[in-house]
Parts: sequence; structure tokens; C-alpha cells
Amino acid sequence: MTEVIQSKKCRECGGEKEENYCNSCASDTQSDLVVSVSEEITMRDALKGKIREGGMGEVKPHHEFSEKDVESGDPRLPDGVHISISVDRKNDKYHQVVIDKRTGDVLHAEDEPLSMHRSTKDKKDT
Ligand SMILES: [Zn+2]
Repeated sequence: MTEVIQSKKCRECGGEKEENYCNSCASDTQSDLVVSVSEEITMRDALKGKIREGGMGEVKPHHEFSEKDVESGDPRLPDGVHISISVDRKNDKYHQVVIDKRTGDVLHAEDEPLSMHRSTKDKKDT
């Protein structure tokens, strides 16, 4: 079970609000969406997320993750593969798992400190 909590924050004062109108600023202000995800997401659909503590443009997301199903092009993998990637800057962790969708076998797994991980693959996401 995954719990996703979304709340809106005022970009000007950082206060929580529900509509564009901010009581603290007494005007309509820009909003930042704050998303908190608890528990790991195991949906078998393409999924992407970023978790940050603070406003967009101010703070880099400290945790990014993506889940996707891709065709491998490999005749031994007719159903394609499921790729799960987690980049946790806060805890300096990089985790990647590639699973054969037909058998559920783990084809490839990486679990290492993010500072040790240097791949060109994760650059296109930034
Ligand atoms: Zn405000």
C-alpha cells in the first residue's frame, strides 16, 4: 500500500494553502506542490517522481525514482523488461533493478553509493 500526500505551499512565504489565494500574503501567489510518498511504489506502469524538501527552483529534489516497462529487443525477452531506478541524493544511494517481465527474474541489479555511480543514462533526467 502506497500513501501519497500532496499539499500546496505558497512560493512567497512558504505557508500551506489550498487555493491560489494565500492568507499570509493576502494575495494570489504562485504555488509549489509538495508531494510526500511513503512506502515503495511497485506499480507495473511507467511512473516517475521527485521528492524535495522545499520549493521548486530553490531546492534540488533529494530523491528521484522511475519505473518503466520497456521492450528489450532481445528475442530471449519477448515480453520486455521492467526497469526500476532510484536515485537518493540525501542518503547517497543508487539502486537499479532490471526484471524479466515474463519470468520475474532479476536480470541486472545495481546497488551502490550514488557518489560511486557515474552513468550517462541518468543525465538525461536532470
Ligand atoms: Zn504566502
